[in-house]
Amino acid sequence: MPNALSLGKLAENMKPRILVVGSLNLDLVARVPNLPQPGETVPIDSFIQSPGGKGANQAVAAARLGALATMLGCVGNDSFGATLLTALRENGVATTHVRIVSECASGVALIGVERSGQNAIMVAGGANLCLLSSDVQRLEHLFAAADAVLLQLEIPIATVAAACQLAKRHGVLVVLDPAPAPSVPLPDDLCAVDLISPNQSEAESLTGIAVADPTDAARAAAVLRGRGARQVVVKLGAQGAVCCDHRGDISHVPAPQVQAIDTTAAGDAFGAALAIALVEGRSLAEAAQFACAAGALATTRCGAQEAMPWRAAVDELVAHCPHS
Ligand code: ADP
Repeated sequence: MPNALSLGKLAENMKPRILVVGSLNLDLVARVPNLPQPGETVPIDSFIQSPGGKGANQAVAAARLGALATMLGCVGNDSFGATLLTALRENGVATTHVRIVSECASGVALIGVERSGQNAIMVAGGANLCLLSSDVQRLEHLFAAADAVLLQLEIPIATVAAACQLAKRHGVLVVLDPAPAPSVPLPDDLCAVDLISPNQSEAESLTGIAVADPTDAARAAAVLRGRGARQVVVKLGAQGAVCCDHRGDISHVPAPQVQAIDTTAAGDAFGAALAIALVEGRSLAEAAQFACAAGALATTRCGAQEAMPWRAAVDELVAHCPHS
């Protein structure tokens, strides 16, 4: 008869193992009446520091959604780096493989948000740019042990490509969030992943198709499948998401209606949820429904990592959503 401890271990073994290879940034957010024009100084209404970075946000989302989440990245040897590591650990993310580098400062994002909700963001990649292909190649065992690898584009593209290659070698599901939209065309081998999930503007920059609605999204998804992506999910904000599965079948998953107050990191919650649901064996459309619920819940709270939703809340929202 298994005791409580062994049941606990069994449950740990059954959790999806998610490896996130990506960025950690400290977000410095200033709320201002109006964003300053060049040369102008404006008073700040309120100021907060909060842990972010697309990679770290996805790792926190994965942990809160019930996965064993491991982060692979770099921070500087500074107080921002310490804050970023603490935030991950407090959320149950394994940080043993976050390298502390002395040659660069931690990644930082300076975010101005004006009262209208419009924002302007300046990002210094800093230590994130020190994550090299050799760092991921050294840790091949992490790829071999993962159920899914989550990638984004806030670290050097060569590192993303190396991570993608290792994951493919071990037959591990690769989910690429092509954000921020690359300034140069995405290399073909990065397009040819198990799943690519751009938002509207990234889909446009990758395909040249302006994506305003589900019909445009379906066209963009078909183009990305033509470039080798096995499956595509285009995120459409309050319009939900459009999926194109491995057979080319398209479905539109509407977003649950919520009181959205801050859409920061909604896409990061979405990506982590999508990967977890696929690892759990759901179809692409079912996984997108779970992901839409996670993304929607993230918009109901301010900030990035602190807004990532917990599993129970996502399951409950899915249970109450009209099925597509
Ligand atoms: P990103 O954050 O990557 O730019 P989106 O803004 O499209 O991506 O948001 C990701 C997902 O979060 C959407 O596909 C949707 O499921 C959910 N979402 C975003 N904004 C809203 C909203 N206003 N209402 C409900 N769900 C939303």
